[in-house]
Amino acid sequence: MSAPTTDASHPGWTLVIHGGAGGMRRDTLTPAQDADARAGLNAALDAGSAVLAGGGSALDAVEAAVRVLEDDPAFNAGRGACFTYDGTNELDAAIMDGRTRAAGAVAGVTATKNPVSLARRVMEDSPHVLLAGKGADAFSRDRGLEQVEPDWFATPERRTQLDTMKASSASAFDVDMKYGTVGAVARDRHGHVAAATSTGGVTGKRWGRVGDSPLIGAGTYADDRAGAVSATGSGEFFIREGVAHEICARVRLAGDTLQTAGDTVMANVRALGGTGGVILTGPAGEIAWSFTTPGMYRGRVSASGSRTVAIYADEG
Ligand code: ASP
Repeated sequence: MSAPTTDASHPGWTLVIHGGAGGMRRDTLTPAQDADARAGLNAALDAGSAVLAGGGSALDAVEAAVRVLEDDPAFNAGRGACFTYDGTNELDAAIMDGRTRAAGAVAGVTATKNPVSLARRVMEDSPHVLLAGKGADAFSRDRGLEQVEPDWFATPERRTQLDTMKASSASAFDVDMKYGTVGAVARDRHGHVAAATSTGGVTGKRWGRVGDSPLIGAGTYADDRAGAVSATGSGEFFIREGVAHEICARVRLAGDTLQTAGDTVMANVRALGGTGGVILTGPAGEIAWSFTTPGMYRGRVSASGSRTVAIYADEG
């Protein structure tokens, strides 16, 4: 469990991001991997904080931050997504507006460059919350979102992870193979919160498997009455715990702080056998994160200008 990290002293605006939880330790990441991840996290904080500092909405900020991480091959979302067992990339994403509790999500999409923006289109330009597979791809083309060839998502590193997994008969849920999901939560100057999450899922996933990331209430949730949550980890356990909604419910109904709610719900996930983490921000500008893995790519910034980027459990 991470050390509590709460910052209620900068209510102007807040942004917290993650790039996935997993087995990252100083001796398992190369210096180049460490530096690339930190650069990517900083770029995403830059994009999201530019929106918030300009008076933009939390919703725009989380979309902007997640798009940067989707485009960065260091993370398991958009470009650099992990491979399915069949050697394809199937992408999941969700976004939610805490002001109205409007939400949109996509699962198993294959050609949209930025799945988080497609999720937003589902939210704003359809009567639905979750579209999946071929239908979601068709909706994306229909609405004119930027399409890319499958090669755009595929990187040699992720291909090697799939090959290694197949060669060793490792489980698709080997924690060292699935880190890199991305997410953002923000609180804007008007006190509204929003959350977004985007992922390639887990290496070697089969049979149309969908994790927690695009499921509203599991991997992603935002509610101005409580806070905004984006999760990363062994998705099946996060679905069973209803992690993101459960955290918000504890804040709203039990009066927990975000930190207590996050730590409690992550302990519940661990008791089920799952691992991972969450990032959190609240309507009063509270910031927290909690994770049960050796590391989580993460960063936070607030209106005061204070910024943290961290990977390992003993940082930040
Ligand atoms: N939660 C994601 C999933 O299960 C994976 C991850 O966050 O690493 O699809």
